[in-house]
Amino acid sequence: MKNKDRVYNFSAGPSMLPYDVLESVAGQLTNYEGSGQSVMEMSHRSAEFETILDDTERNFREILSIPENYKVLFVQGGATLQFAMVPLNLLRKSKKADYILTGQWAKKAAEEAAKFGDVKITASSEESKFTYVPKVNRADFRSDADYVHMTSNNTIYGTRFPYVPDTGDIPLVADMSSDILAEKIDVSKFGLIYAGAQKNMGPAGLTIVIVRDDLLGFAANNVPTYLDYTTHANNKSMYNTPSTFPIYVAGEVLKKIIKDGGILAIEKANIEKAQKLYDYIDASSMFNCPVEKEDRSRMNVIFMTGDAQLDKKFVSEAKEQGMYNLAGYRSLGGMRASIYNAMPKEGIDKLVEFMKQFEVANRK
Ligand code: PMP
Repeated sequence: MKNKDRVYNFSAGPSMLPYDVLESVAGQLTNYEGSGQSVMEMSHRSAEFETILDDTERNFREILSIPENYKVLFVQGGATLQFAMVPLNLLRKSKKADYILTGQWAKKAAEEAAKFGDVKITASSEESKFTYVPKVNRADFRSDADYVHMTSNNTIYGTRFPYVPDTGDIPLVADMSSDILAEKIDVSKFGLIYAGAQKNMGPAGLTIVIVRDDLLGFAANNVPTYLDYTTHANNKSMYNTPSTFPIYVAGEVLKKIIKDGGILAIEKANIEKAQKLYDYIDASSMFNCPVEKEDRSRMNVIFMTGDAQLDKKFVSEAKEQGMYNLAGYRSLGGMRASIYNAMPKEGIDKLVEFMKQFEVANRK
């Protein structure tokens, strides 16, 4: 299938991958670099795969300028398993953790942590249906909290933290599932970062954890071996069979990011893509975005007409034009355009053009 036959997939994840990565993976699918085998068939202990893993980690560290005193772990179980692994490893003294509630995923993370410790919701935007991100500072957190948890980008509600909360000496943990590799970050401001790969990095089945060395080694004895970060840190993510193929594809995505100019080039493109869509929505008399301007996500753009039938019509007509998965989250309705790194700017242009036509055709 040629690129022109592909649809623009606005799914919240799994989502689009860069076309050249798909092509290069397809080209090497049955015989990876002359090895006579597919990466899928390779022993994870083979020299070939070790090189893939090493290159993937090195490029990831380079792109995000990850300091030496952080480990990068490749695990499985999605961000959902991290909701449990974080408290199991980081509730190490007071067993208290403070959570910032900015959406359903943050809520799920907090509920899971509450199984293991004393969880306090420090700030929440639930009263306004998560249409903004609360401003928090050091004084808001319990001084003896073992960590503070935030969700940097809220996939469902289309919000993003426009700042990194100051937590003082308390380690800050961030779920970056839907904006990892979307912009430059200062890793040193975080104790731990985790993200499922399936939005900006690669196929589902891989979860990345970036963890500061001093936070390792605190899991209780009864924590299952796989759920202890030190297991992965001490075994270079090879304690058991890692998700070899997703790691390989993620590695190819990272190579492309470097080739395309690195994280700042990606960030610039993401700002431009999101701005174009928001500018149109704000100028339109049919579509509306409920999210506070300064907290708007660059990855998940929420919009609606205010008429559920019309929204449905929009989603189905867009699909006929090759723009897939524009329906909003089940409980929210409306539309959501997820425009991760691999969504080309032509996809945004096509969507905006379609919105204009739809608005003219359906004006009351
Ligand atoms: N956190 C966020 C911010 C998400 O967007 C998602 C998935 N959409 C999750 C967590 C859950 O991730 P997973 O399905 O990888 O467990």
